[in-house]
Amino acid sequence: MSLPPTALSITGLRKRFGANEVLRGIDLTAQDGDVISLIGASGSGKSTLLRCIPMLEVPDAGTVSVGADSVSPKGGRLSRAEEAVARRMRGHLGFVFQNFNLWPHRTVLQNVVEAPLFVQNRSRAEAVDEAMVLLEKVGLTDKRDAWPAHLSGGQQQRVAIARALAQHPRAILFDEPTSALDPELVGEVLKVIRSLAEEGRTMLIVTHEMGFAREVSSRVVFLHQGLVEEDGTPAQVFGNPGSDRCRAFISGHF
Ligand code: ADP
Ligand code: MG
Repeated sequence: MSLPPTALSITGLRKRFGANEVLRGIDLTAQDGDVISLIGASGSGKSTLLRCIPMLEVPDAGTVSVGADSVSPKGGRLSRAEEAVARRMRGHLGFVFQNFNLWPHRTVLQNVVEAPLFVQNRSRAEAVDEAMVLLEKVGLTDKRDAWPAHLSGGQQQRVAIARALAQHPRAILFDEPTSALDPELVGEVLKVIRSLAEEGRTMLIVTHEMGFAREVSSRVVFLHQGLVEEDGTPAQVFGNPGSDRCRAFISGHF
């Protein structure tokens, strides 16, 4: 049986900040439909890795490919041609950050239609229709005209997910999507992400929610000091990790 097409591929990725070598040669591939949970101690490089994929941080070495587009920056800089490719890659990715990052002076609906209207140049009627479908998916149709500040953190994060989906992304990158939430709001956000997994969306999720990772992921990747130390199915990584460090990390998070 052949594998599904590759949505996202990272090879030999390196990134340093001054003397601090944060990513030391990361290889990671996501096929269409993969849900990859990225776990690891604080400071292991998870956020940097996620930020290097859309070139929000420019890697020092290595290659990032999203669909047919590929960039191999050298020395933490992009040439003008690479910048154009990176911009196209960003357009094929959705992002959901820890702190929601909604536009504060735009309503919920305006947040969701922003990229379709102004980046993808779709018609307003089409963008609004689709946004309403997405708001229904995340359970927020009644909040379409609300301001972000008037929503709970869980609701804001669900808007951020709808906004990411509105881009028709090839893959969605989540960086600790529930870490900033009050405990009673975590479940509603995880439920939405779980429904996306069931739809076959391709996702890379940095999370400390180990039960969730075990349940929804097709693969779990454990990062240690800028290297992939484990990469396997949830059964392998949670049940029988090869690395003692991974085992200790997991047992500390259940
Ligand atoms: P994680 O998300 O796994 O906690 P990060 O990727 O945020 O780890 O950070 C990894 C290391 O890189 C840390 O030592 C952090 O201080 C450093 N780092 C991250 N971003 C920057 C930056 N913009 N400038 C300097 N150092 C950074
Ligand atoms: Mg982080």
